[in-house]
Amino acid sequence: MKRAIYPGSFDPVTFGHLDVIERSAKIMDELIIGVLNNTAKSPLFSVEERVTMLKEATCHLPHVRVEAFGGLLVDFAVQSGANTIVRGLRAVTDFEYELQMSQINTVLNPEIDTVFFTTRLQYAYLSSSIVKEVALMGGDISKFVPESVMKRVYNKFKLKESMGNEQDRADY
Ligand code: ADP
Repeated sequence: MKRAIYPGSFDPVTFGHLDVIERSAKIMDELIIGVLNNTAKSPLFSVEERVTMLKEATCHLPHVRVEAFGGLLVDFAVQSGANTIVRGLRAVTDFEYELQMSQINTVLNPEIDTVFFTTRLQYAYLSSSIVKEVALMGGDISKFVPESVMKRVYNKFKLKESMGNEQDRADY
């Protein structure tokens, strides 16, 4: 049984993430998307919202599961019975961080390996942060995220605006 974990913040999930999910799911018997419950990063969406958006976006993929996790990724992998971590690489700028993470995870647990999917060219520029930046400025994000996610992003900013949150620009 080849079971892998694809961990990330997914704040929110983009077509770039979904491309990595679909491609990695093809070579795995089971893919668990691990949504990081990261209080330090002050995400736009709660972990529950990020899990819901991913479940909606991957409901056509039968052997893909979505779960929230906190703490060490290698511990979550062991608990889940997975020995492979999937990550995506967009550009050289991703490389240094991803290399360090895969090396520290190997030191923490030598049984667990990381495999990398290089981005498809059409998604090379795409990140959750850029989606939030464009939406915050009132731009069209329909090319970047599924429709249900798009609605949630716009609603979230509308909500924040009406609450008079001046911090948005600084945070995202
Ligand atoms: P994290 O906060 O852990 O970096 P992200 O949600 O930003 O979480 O990303 C999760 C993973 O998906 C990372 O490995 C990242 O490099 C990858 N990724 C993000 N966007 C893309 C994309 N457009 N194409 C390929 N991989 C991507």
